[in-house]
Amino acid sequence: MPSGIYLHIPFCKSRCSYCDFATDVWRSNDAVERYVRSICSEIRGSTFEIQNTADTIYFGGGTPSLLTAGQVERILNSVTAKFYIAPDAEITMEMNPATVTPETLAAYRKLGLNRASFGVQTFDDRALKLLARGHDANDARQTFAMLREAGYDNVSFDLIAGLPGQTLADWSRNLDEAIAMSPEHLSLYLLEIHEGTPLAEQVRSKRQPQPDPELAAEMYESMLDRLAGAGYEQYEISNFSRPGFESRHNSKYWTLDPVFGFGVSAHSFDGRQRYANDRDTARYVAVIESGKNAEVMRESIDVASEFAFLGLRLENGLDLKGFAARFDSDLIGKYRSEIDRLTEAGLVIVADDRLRLTPKGKLFSNEVFAVFV
Ligand code: SF4
Repeated sequence: MPSGIYLHIPFCKSRCSYCDFATDVWRSNDAVERYVRSICSEIRGSTFEIQNTADTIYFGGGTPSLLTAGQVERILNSVTAKFYIAPDAEITMEMNPATVTPETLAAYRKLGLNRASFGVQTFDDRALKLLARGHDANDARQTFAMLREAGYDNVSFDLIAGLPGQTLADWSRNLDEAIAMSPEHLSLYLLEIHEGTPLAEQVRSKRQPQPDPELAAEMYESMLDRLAGAGYEQYEISNFSRPGFESRHNSKYWTLDPVFGFGVSAHSFDGRQRYANDRDTARYVAVIESGKNAEVMRESIDVASEFAFLGLRLENGLDLKGFAARFDSDLIGKYRSEIDRLTEAGLVIVADDRLRLTPKGKLFSNEVFAVFV
């Protein structure tokens, strides 16, 4: 199983109203430089042993596209100095509209970046303002055009459905525009409102309407038909691609392949244990600068049960024979009464030696996963 490398770059131009990721507002070039030095030093000093090659590298954030090409190059040099990277590795960077120029995109390409995960979220300027995204829909259109001109032929869009005040017609217009632009991959999420975010406060104080879960479910169902009609295959609950353009890196999380993460809040999984770094950027930098390890959590996981519920996220579901061979365990026998109950509720289906979520099960997936956790 080739591994993946995840690199967390926490900085953003401003903070979106719904965001609860480990991010920091970009304060100064010096602070970013210190962070880049720290992540390079964490990578070079890593004690992770990759058994095989790594065939994916993923810059996530935050907004990694705020880094200069020189900073990206130093981080990639640290990765290649430490680990063996497959020559055909998928190298992705998360990018936000209005954060790149044709020159930086061309320079990233030269460094080997071959996939962009692009945070569009919505083409509706009113909603972008509400989400405090710091860009408008035209910025997204222009950045996408720049990506194409710079030769990026593997681009993913992130879109969010179920925004406060968003109607089914609004969502449909968003899908129309995304499909017309024809990215190779789409990640489509339902809005989650996280405690402690400005958006949660706006909803609580009734300054924004509470999103309607039934409407969000209608949006999800309408999107399945629309994207299938436009030639996208759903390969995971929230992810759709043209054939052959599935995210190789993200697929590793669902098939429980090893992924080694670096940077603030980065998580790793080595096949047996999960690790997490400190979530606070200042603390992370201080710890690395003092020559110590930023790891704050390490735990052994129940690999079989994680493999089961993560596998269920995939469109093909869980290969029951493969599961039995790998874990010497009969999943259906072990969870018979729960699986019968989920089947009766129309949430899962067992067929052709596979356990799969039904379309209804994809909407209530957390209830299904809870059985296996
Ligand atoms: S751009 Fe993404 S990571 Fe940055 S604040 Fe917005 S949602 Fe969070």
